[in-house]
Amino acid sequence: MPDDELLARLRRFNEDAFPQYREQFKTLVEDGQHPTTLFIGCSDSRLVPYLLTGAGPGELFIVRNVGAFVPPYDGSHGLHGTAAAIEFAVLSLQVSRIVVCGHSHCGAIKTLYGEVPAEAQNLRRWLDLGREAALPVVPGPEALRRTEQRAVVLQLERLMDYPMVRRRVEEGSITLHGWHYVIEDGEVHVFDVRTGDFVPASRATSSGTGPYHPYVEHDGQVLVDA
Ligand SMILES: [Zn+2]
Repeated sequence: MPDDELLARLRRFNEDAFPQYREQFKTLVEDGQHPTTLFIGCSDSRLVPYLLTGAGPGELFIVRNVGAFVPPYDGSHGLHGTAAAIEFAVLSLQVSRIVVCGHSHCGAIKTLYGEVPAEAQNLRRWLDLGREAALPVVPGPEALRRTEQRAVVLQLERLMDYPMVRRRVEEGSITLHGWHYVIEDGEVHVFDVRTGDFVPASRATSSGTGPYHPYVEHDGQVLVDA
């Protein structure tokens, strides 16, 4: 056993784990990937998309960043990996779902109420994408939880500024899913646009259709900006 633990793990994957997936990956290479879900999640190490969703290879197109934030569509503020991933997932992969997944005890959200080291100029700028979600209070556990959830909704709204996303959401070929994962409970709370609440998955009626899924009023009027 080498004393480089990471190298040992790489070898273990290749020798022990990969053989079980060999055929699956062969197909995914020959036929290409066809993931149906774009998963935008916080980089936090405790958020494990494959565990949460039970997804396997080829199912999730994942982009992760500090805070699970969506940058503005304008494209004028630098090189946006997350924006590029959204465009690729929607236009090339033609995903049918976009998940935005925040979580409890999120360091990015907590930092909205605190100090960023002066040297972290990129981080400071990036956190601006969540600032609107912050509450004018001294943050306790409840306020932080609310801010985490408000940040998820804020990102869903910003997603709708991407023309290719808005078009598909309005025509019903893409659904939006706002999730808040409570690490200590192992449960995702799903944003319900009709009540504005986050509902534990155990009680939710859907995994979330986002804030802009067409909503038909009693009189038959279709409201898109519900
Ligand atoms: Zn986080």
